[in-house]
Amino acid sequence: MPGFELFGDNERKEVQDVLSTGVLMRYGFDGMRQGHWKARELEHALAQRMQTAHAQLLSSGTAALTVAMASAGIGAGDEVILPTFTFVASFEAVLALGAIPVLVDIDDTLTLDPRAVENAITNKTRVVMPVHMCGSMADLQALRSICDKHRLLLVEDACQAIGGTYQGKPLGSYGDLGCFSFDYVKTITCGEGGALITNNETFYRNADHYSDHGHDHVGNDRGAESHPFLGYNYRISEMNAAVGIAQLARLDDFLAIQEKHYSIMRNALESIPGISFRRVPEGGVENYSFLNFYLPNEQAAREAHAALGPAGVDACFYWYDNNWHYHRKWDHLKQLKSLGNLNSEIRERLRNMPDARFTASDHWMGRTISSLVKLGWSEQEVHKRATTMAEVLKQYC
Ligand SMILES: *Cc1c(COP(=O)(O)O)cnc(C)c1O
Repeated sequence: MPGFELFGDNERKEVQDVLSTGVLMRYGFDGMRQGHWKARELEHALAQRMQTAHAQLLSSGTAALTVAMASAGIGAGDEVILPTFTFVASFEAVLALGAIPVLVDIDDTLTLDPRAVENAITNKTRVVMPVHMCGSMADLQALRSICDKHRLLLVEDACQAIGGTYQGKPLGSYGDLGCFSFDYVKTITCGEGGALITNNETFYRNADHYSDHGHDHVGNDRGAESHPFLGYNYRISEMNAAVGIAQLARLDDFLAIQEKHYSIMRNALESIPGISFRRVPEGGVENYSFLNFYLPNEQAAREAHAALGPAGVDACFYWYDNNWHYHRKWDHLKQLKSLGNLNSEIRERLRNMPDARFTASDHWMGRTISSLVKLGWSEQEVHKRATTMAEVLKQYC
């Protein structure tokens, strides 16, 4: 997955453009910047690549989630439905807006189970947020019809699946809003950065203003701009955006490399009785950033995972015990450990979180191992890795 593996001359050239003028900020300084508008240029390229009307760059993927929801008017007390398998950024963004994260089960797609989503809807629900973890997507058509029926927003977190598609559409472009991260370990990186995409003109305008202190960006005098509403600072810098221009131009090359490496590993595991693969919803194409598979049970998965590293197969993850990505270890969330006071509504509504049980999620995650797909491997390395993986896994099936 990590684009940083292939950082090179194109990235350096783009950054050099910015260094040559010293205009490190995305807004203003028109005369000094000698025609370089890196953030704007990347926004246009991203919107085009993702087939949406608009893209707004932001300082991180977490900022993208926060601004996406803020731009659609999500705020205090609104409920946002999230999966138990995600990244902590999902609930951080919700809490930052004073909204309420509602965790629900995943299924064998390793993403939101549409039935669990429907069961969790209340009269406070405003958003369904599928998280396309580890390169593959949620059943977006099922979620779209639930959202339409209950008049909810569909906000896709595509931070780990950029370049994947569903029914021919780029992931992130199917929902009302879609979010990407360009942090250092994502498929394409800006060092730090993120973006939202949307076809909704109002959400886009709100995101543009909100991410820059509420500035309306009318006219040529930043100091004289007015503020139609309160905002915050989630701007990306020109330096980060410059890196992203070079990386986005190589996205399709990166995807092709990932698919090749993924297929070599998958072919090696396909015939092992007892190994099965994560279900990809019909009409979906992964971005191949991870190969995700199931062992027959939790014990086998745990033992196989423990054996892979010493056998020389690095970068395999057993998310079930992971404290960033799976609900079991989110004690700071469950115990509401916050530096300052959380507002009383959040405290009250999350009071029972420590008692929540997610047996369906535990069933799938307990059996899951994910192998990262690296860009920098040589073909020989991938073949060796695939053979060793198969040898190790056979012993636990
Ligand atoms: C990386 C990631 C984020 C957050 O992105 P940052 O740029 O690190 O803030 C959000 N969601 C998922 C699923 C991620 O993997």
